[in-house]
Amino acid sequence: MRKRIVAGNWKMNMNHAEGAVLAGALAGGIAGKPVSCEIVIFPPFTTIPAVAGALEGSTIAVGGQDLFYEDAGAFTGEISGGMLRGLGCSHVLVGHSERRHIIGEGGVILARKMRAALRDGLIPVFCVGELLDEREGGRAADVVAVQMRECLTGTSDEEIARTVIAYEPVWAIGTGKTATQQDASEMHAVIREILQHLFNKEVAEHTPVLYGGSVNPGNAAELMSAPGVDGVLVGGASLKAPSFLDIIFAS
Ligand code: PEP
Repeated sequence: MRKRIVAGNWKMNMNHAEGAVLAGALAGGIAGKPVSCEIVIFPPFTTIPAVAGALEGSTIAVGGQDLFYEDAGAFTGEISGGMLRGLGCSHVLVGHSERRHIIGEGGVILARKMRAALRDGLIPVFCVGELLDEREGGRAADVVAVQMRECLTGTSDEEIARTVIAYEPVWAIGTGKTATQQDASEMHAVIREILQHLFNKEVAEHTPVLYGGSVNPGNAAELMSAPGVDGVLVGGASLKAPSFLDIIFAS
């Protein structure tokens, strides 16, 4: 049985005060209720301490939206995995499409970030996904295969056992367009084939693969019931407690 995960990426939203309120509402919203998934939220770096404080005693985990690949030194503006661990983070996003396509991070940097996340004992949520023209050109599977090969090659058995993959078609992120159940299942099956090729059948069967891209309370249950979809990575709909709680309870 693979674990089910509902993750919320707050992106560059929620200052420390707003984040504490939202995290408190999420913790209160699940308290005493049966929850069938792991929950992780990814606040901005500066909001993490306030969120971690508000979540004390809750099962909701916290992660960073990014990390740098060195541990410390003259790297102005960067944050290391050790710093995230020190604030209580267990997870980190690596290769989110906004880092790939807005900030311009490519495979070489992202491979180093994956190595750093694993070295620092974090659970990387490694994001992959194709652009619209790549999908329309029939290249979605090839694009995702390259992204995975670049960053997962050389990962040890222990490390891959800690890794989560998020399939996030770029054309579906923040656009209101969602992949159909069939699109998601097909790509999740492709991702498992690639995992089998890079590692083995057991890794392919055990690695959680999340779907992300305009998930909301209206489509979450359907997407999460698609074969091969082990949970969701949610952007916009994770910024309000009622909608994120609805998604959590739909899992
Ligand atoms: C995301 O940020 O990973 C994401 C999927 O965003 P949204 O849900 O807003 O499309």
